[in-house]
Amino acid sequence: MEVCKGSDCLKVELIAYTLPQEGSVDKLVAESGAISHAPHFKELNDERVKNLIELLKKLGHESVFEHACFTFRVEGISRVCTHQLVRHRLASYTQQSQRYVKLKEPTFIVPESIASSAFYDEYINVLTQAAELYRKMVEGGIRKEDARFVLPQSVETKIIITMNARELRHFLELRCDKSAQWEIRALAEKMLSLVYEVAPLLFDDLYEKYILDK
Ligand SMILES: Cc1cc2nc3c(=O)[nH]c(=O)nc-3n(C[C@H](O)[C@H](O)[C@H](O)COP(=O)(O)OP(=O)(O)OC[C@H]3O[C@@H](n4cnc5c(N)ncnc54)[C@H](O)[C@@H]3O)c2cc1C
Repeated sequence: MEVCKGSDCLKVELIAYTLPQEGSVDKLVAESGAISHAPHFKELNDERVKNLIELLKKLGHESVFEHACFTFRVEGISRVCTHQLVRHRLASYTQQSQRYVKLKEPTFIVPESIASSAFYDEYINVLTQAAELYRKMVEGGIRKEDARFVLPQSVETKIIITMNARELRHFLELRCDKSAQWEIRALAEKMLSLVYEVAPLLFDDLYEKYILDK
């Protein structure tokens, strides 16, 4: 059994995103937006791309943002967190299955508040017992899909997430906010930093609000 404190083991990678034949993902969105007011498709210069994306955000013409998609690979995250994540319905997810994957050495995510408290040792004892009983049950012939019922929600999982920029902006607004729970907030902040690198104009307002002004 392994233990990860807080978001120490959280790993988030941007593994794919929409890249047009020419130009950037920002430009793709701006050029898609431009067609609604232009007689022909046309290539935009950098200044026009910037101004158009700002205008789209201001007007709330958000369907244009759906042309850009982002795919993330996430590990070192608890099932507590992914349960909250998958409530966001306009996204695609593929999660490691507890029916098919035997958790030989389960890892558990431990909140900092528990790790630094007087309950820590007792808590670790419970996790150890749960992991041990899970192992014994699987070895004793109980199917993984049933043995997993003994595992706490803090068990680590892995998930692939794909969101378009419209849904991603909505997700980031909700989950980077101070009212969000710490783990999903840590996830959202990492996702925001990654997409800001490849699509700065699509996410600059959120990056400033939730990362720079944090
Ligand atoms: C701080 C916080 C606390 C929360 N606490 C709880 C809680 O105590 N209990 C709980 O159950 N959940 C809780 N949630 C989850 C929350 O209720 C939403 O399920 C979750 O945030 C997904 O948001 P969403 O529905 O806006 O987004 P998405 O599912 O990502 O959808 C995006 C947008 O699409 C539109 N949309 C999607 N589906 C529909 C639909 N069927 N009909 C109409 N419009 C739709 C909406 O405009 C929606 O905002 C909490 C969320 C946060 C951020």
